[in-house]
Amino acid sequence: MLLVMERGATPEEVQAIVRRIEELGFEGRALAGRQRTAVAVLGNDESLDAARFSDLAGIKEIVPVTEPYRQASREWQAENTVIQLPGGPSIGGDEVVVMAGPCAVESERQIVETARRVRDAGATVLRGGAFKPRSSPYSFQGLGKQGLEWLAQAREETGLPVVTEVMDTESVELVARYADILQVGARNMQNFSLLRRVGQAGKPVLLKRGYAATVTELLLAAEYVLAEGNERVILCERGVRGFDSATRFVLDLTAIPLVHRLSHLPIVADPSHGTGIRGKVLPMARAAVAAGADGLLIEVHPAPEQALSDGVQTISPEEFGELMRQCRGIADVIGRRIAEPAGVVG
Ligand code: PEP
Ligand code: MN
Repeated sequence: MLLVMERGATPEEVQAIVRRIEELGFEGRALAGRQRTAVAVLGNDESLDAARFSDLAGIKEIVPVTEPYRQASREWQAENTVIQLPGGPSIGGDEVVVMAGPCAVESERQIVETARRVRDAGATVLRGGAFKPRSSPYSFQGLGKQGLEWLAQAREETGLPVVTEVMDTESVELVARYADILQVGARNMQNFSLLRRVGQAGKPVLLKRGYAATVTELLLAAEYVLAEGNERVILCERGVRGFDSATRFVLDLTAIPLVHRLSHLPIVADPSHGTGIRGKVLPMARAAVAAGADGLLIEVHPAPEQALSDGVQTISPEEFGELMRQCRGIADVIGRRIAEPAGVVG
């Protein structure tokens, strides 16, 4: 439930409402909007009776939040959340932020070279896994801390902020020391203790949709992070399971405009995992930008056929350059633009 205040409501009137909510056994949080303040009721499962507030001054209207997720909903916040990333780009506004890099960090040379090449083509965030959630325990699991150190070095040399996955609660602190954005992978979308921990880590979170999760479940997962006081959540559509094995997953592009209607949080698309096929990444990247994605997550490797993970869906730096060129054109048509890297650092 949201109590929207009159434009001229005084701080004392707002405080009186917060106090009343607390007397009722819940948490009241004042949210200062551009036009007016609203007071949110937290901790209640069901809507309170509006009559409980009828004797208090300054209330314009009482809005029930009807979605099961609250802070993630448009009812809660009408304006888009815009998240400023270190090093320049902001996500959720007019610009489309492209995050690119290998599935996994494999060597110092591989990650630094990839970072340079994706930045030269126009990427504004570097991706790369140091801790890899692999379907098989015998597959390459990532380089762990060493991978994080090389990611930090690639950031140093290119100025690109880094997004990397954190797989468990124990490593949140370590990964947060190196990452600019903490990625929660599809397989962990409903790992609620991990969501709470990343909600406390003080870094933006890239939350990937589980491949059998509904959009409501995705937004409820985001709610766990928001409920910890971290408002910087970026959602990611990365494909869901379909019945046809011709592609690895089905990139659910409808989720993009749907999330934009239901939530104020930015959503990016990952056509690499969403298709699982190198040759399909470019057309689906174009389509995702056309559908209104606030960003793209693209797997790029200097020699995709030699990649230690996800090589079949990974594109080369040259192919990435063409993807950027075409996506700039699509963004232009819908009145957006692809974010450009800040001044070249090295
Ligand atoms: C990844 O981004 O490399 C990854 C493992 O993604 P997902 O969690 O979407 O499978
Ligand atoms: Mn991958």
